[in-house]
Amino acid sequence: MSKVLIIGAGGVGRVVAFKCAMHPEVFSEIMLASRTKSKCDVIAADAQKATGHRKIQTAQVDADNVPELAQLIRSFQPKLVIHVALPYQDLTIMDACLETGVDYLDTANYEPKDEAKFEYSWQWAYQDRFREKGLLAVLGCGFDPGVTSIFTARAAKHHFDEIHYLDIVDCNAGDHGKAFATNFNPEINIREITQKGRYYENGRWVETEPHEIMRMLNYPNIGPKASYLIYHEELESLVKNYPSLKRARFWMTFGQEYLTHLRVIQNIGMARIDPVQYKGVEIVPLEFLKAVLPDPGELGQNYTGETSIGCRIRGVKDGKERTYYIWNNCRHQDAFDETGAQGVSYTTGVPAMLGAKMVLDGKWSGKGVFNVEQFNPDPFLDELGPNGLPWEEAFDVDLELD
Ligand code: NDP
Repeated sequence: MSKVLIIGAGGVGRVVAFKCAMHPEVFSEIMLASRTKSKCDVIAADAQKATGHRKIQTAQVDADNVPELAQLIRSFQPKLVIHVALPYQDLTIMDACLETGVDYLDTANYEPKDEAKFEYSWQWAYQDRFREKGLLAVLGCGFDPGVTSIFTARAAKHHFDEIHYLDIVDCNAGDHGKAFATNFNPEINIREITQKGRYYENGRWVETEPHEIMRMLNYPNIGPKASYLIYHEELESLVKNYPSLKRARFWMTFGQEYLTHLRVIQNIGMARIDPVQYKGVEIVPLEFLKAVLPDPGELGQNYTGETSIGCRIRGVKDGKERTYYIWNNCRHQDAFDETGAQGVSYTTGVPAMLGAKMVLDGKWSGKGVFNVEQFNPDPFLDELGPNGLPWEEAFDVDLELD
């Protein structure tokens, strides 16, 4: 029985709140805090109605402000903070957890606001401070990063002596009926997707132009989809934690319509993150664009189709080469019916709740800063299906990727 503080009341925060409320035996008291308290109130009322959890409170907080965060944490006294606001707030929330002696969990690595660059170095630099205080920080516990890292840990623990080639494949075959919308925070999403591609091979990083490399890949229950090589943050920790990897890549599906919109957005300067003057006011074009794009949290209602995210792995077991594919498919409609959020928020929020449950149940523990593949994957994967994200695996199959 523990108190948990959830920060961020977007699509992911909604799912985390719902899922925590379904486990009152673990999350006995929940506080949902965010920049806009009215959004927390709506989610709390919906979660209370759906689950019957009676102790969900809400609060307003500016998560860029460490003293404000520390004050909220001191007054509520949670055992753990689940951070599902934006990656810009990772460090301030970690600072507040250190100051107040509380464990920390997030789903995305730190990004400075003025530079479209995300890497673990900033958060790994907190290792000594968390260890010295006897606190735990769990990094990247969404789906990717998160479940994909845990899938890799399962492969390494149970099915291979050495893993050599890792391809993470992320397909969203959903249709939300909008000409253009992003599935999570548009600002973060567009920064991530317009970056150069990058993959790891033979001990070094290879850079590509954005969306330069494409393969048609078949996804279970979906079929063939154009999949583009992009850089994704879990590659950085996985190549460090699995030094036997000779190559690690990440693929994501995009439709032509989506890519055309993205190209136009970039070409007309709307993806810029530096401030420009407009009628005497300073605005950041990408922040303005976010304000006029559909809210990802509102996409759920008519969202059809499903996501399929998994890991395709080649390596060696008992002296023989083998292949392995492990994946989850999630239907947007099922996610919406259960939580009022679409599949991308759902596939992120369920693992965040479950990672928190692992910590509070004592199944994941440690002092310092950890990526999720460093924990025992078994108890997490045992509970992932029953909590809404069933997974499947196949051995010695054609991985479609040389
Ligand atoms: P949203 O933009 O829908 O929600 C973000 C929430 O954070 C909003 O409620 C926002 O408040 C709040 N917020 C932003 N800044 C602050 C601040 N300074 N103080 C307090 N609250 C703040 O995003 P999503 O729910 O789609 O995504 C949440 C997180 O999940 C992101 O970090 C994203 O990168 C991550 N993610 C991870 C994935 C994974 O698989 N690992 C996949 C998808 C997302 P307001 O409502 O006032 O704007």
